[in-house]
Amino acid sequence: MEDILELAKRRGFLWPSFEIYGGASGFYDYGPLGAALKNRVENLWRRFFVIGEGYMEISSPNLGVSEIFVASGHVGHFADPVVSCSECGESFRADHLLKESGVETDGMSYEEIESGLKDKGVICISCGGELSKISTFNLMFKTAIGAGGRTGYLRPETAQNIFILFNRLYEFYRKKLPFGVAQLGRAYRNEISPRQGLLRLREFSQAEIEVFVDPRSKETHPRFSEVAKVKLNMVPGERPEAEMVAGEAVKKGIIAHEFLAYHIVRTYQYLVGVGIPSDKIRFRQHKKTEMAHYACDCWDAEVRTERYGWVEVVGIADRTDYDLKSHITESGVDMSAFVRFDAAQVVEKTILAPHMKKLGPVFRKDAGLVGELISNSDPTGLKGDGSLDITFNGESVNVKPEMFEVKTVVERVEGEKIVPHVIEPSFGIDRIIYCILESAHREEERSGEMRTVLSLKPVVAPYDVAVFSLVSKDGLDEKAVEVFEQLKEKGLLVLFDTSGTIGRRYARSDEIGVPKAITVDFRTLDDSTVTVRNRDTMEQERVKIDELAQVLTKTL
Ligand code: AMP
Repeated sequence: MEDILELAKRRGFLWPSFEIYGGASGFYDYGPLGAALKNRVENLWRRFFVIGEGYMEISSPNLGVSEIFVASGHVGHFADPVVSCSECGESFRADHLLKESGVETDGMSYEEIESGLKDKGVICISCGGELSKISTFNLMFKTAIGAGGRTGYLRPETAQNIFILFNRLYEFYRKKLPFGVAQLGRAYRNEISPRQGLLRLREFSQAEIEVFVDPRSKETHPRFSEVAKVKLNMVPGERPEAEMVAGEAVKKGIIAHEFLAYHIVRTYQYLVGVGIPSDKIRFRQHKKTEMAHYACDCWDAEVRTERYGWVEVVGIADRTDYDLKSHITESGVDMSAFVRFDAAQVVEKTILAPHMKKLGPVFRKDAGLVGELISNSDPTGLKGDGSLDITFNGESVNVKPEMFEVKTVVERVEGEKIVPHVIEPSFGIDRIIYCILESAHREEERSGEMRTVLSLKPVVAPYDVAVFSLVSKDGLDEKAVEVFEQLKEKGLLVLFDTSGTIGRRYARSDEIGVPKAITVDFRTLDDSTVTVRNRDTMEQERVKIDELAQVLTKTL
């Protein structure tokens, strides 16, 4: 079978980027058909999550200032182990080389990977040269912003933009939890040696959702009953693979809570919606050794591919309050939510009350902000000498005991401040597109002849319909143009193809996944009907031109 990436290249779905300058791995251009398919995959995502769930979409800069990524941990930890060849100088991801020699590397330390490579006698896969020791390579693209050269990075994920806008978004959502925010955009990772086509890109599209929840109410999701009976193929942590309905998985404590399970099911429904067969989808829970240190439960939606085996296409994690807390510490800005109690409570409370008269001469114009930071500090965090450390302008500042008073007050409390937890489904659009193309691609024999078909679901196909005229004479071609214009006006995406025999044109439209093909023939001139051919069954029916748009819209 022809490689789907070859077909995608030949037909204008995907082209390796920068070809006339020798190319660079990890970059792809979406050609006209690829871009049309991608738009539809993204629009269906919007229909599911932005419209369906009400997670409003934002669009932020692709470049961010370094503070964001210091706080998120990317500057410190977003790195992969690299080895390079002493002969040809090529670099490789050390864990991938070891994995390719048959060793499971998840959770391995760099030392273990290094000795694994040595034990297996792994050498350079390009020239057979000896490999260096492991070093670490940060995957972010670094740049300088403006003439002053402030450090910036291309974002390695779209999520951070949402976290740092928390206060604005909380206000936008009228200060009520839970609320969700979506972002569909580019992410950048300077992958060490990407050799897996669309699966490992240096610039790719992510569609991420951050749902901010009160940690005490994530056990129940208001719409969980709608999805509780959906059956999922699951690989839960260290336990064996099993098929189970979502409700049971929560009840047995396999999925941490309803909020996470709800998003796992919605992810499954979306993947089936874009055309990935349900028997090729599974949800794999991260093992303890693999789970990000901040996550309390994390599942990957994986798709079984012919070429690469199981591929992670979506990560769905409970990221706890890690991200907001990291940005609170780094920026010094309070990003908490106020959650009301069912009934007000009267409580005795210890507070820190700043002496503004004493702060003024020391902190001058910043005295107000320092006072606020003192008031917001936890009295149990006071140091042995009674002073207090606060983070101010990114630096730790010690505030002397005489600058504030420790007071006990009786208060009527309506609610409390909490740092929300975050449930994050993170979709890799390019990987999903690869899986759609591979699942839809088939070669089959029909009436003694081979044909190639992309059985794309109509909802993602780059065109809705193709219009042909049987021959380009006797007024058939003009009639075909009329039909083409009429269908376009109805909002359908229509391919108009006049070159080659009708058989060639059918073959081409099958190969690029057009669900229906319409042919104007001699009978059309007599009775104003056309042939409508179904891509998958190759069956044909006659439909009146007047009813065409309606029939097509209904069946597509
Ligand atoms: P992560 O933040 O690593 O969990 O990534 C979230 C999703 O983005 C993954 O599930 C992938 O689908 C996708 N993804 C991550 N890295 C890449 C890459 N280098 N190229 C293409 N897609 C990627």
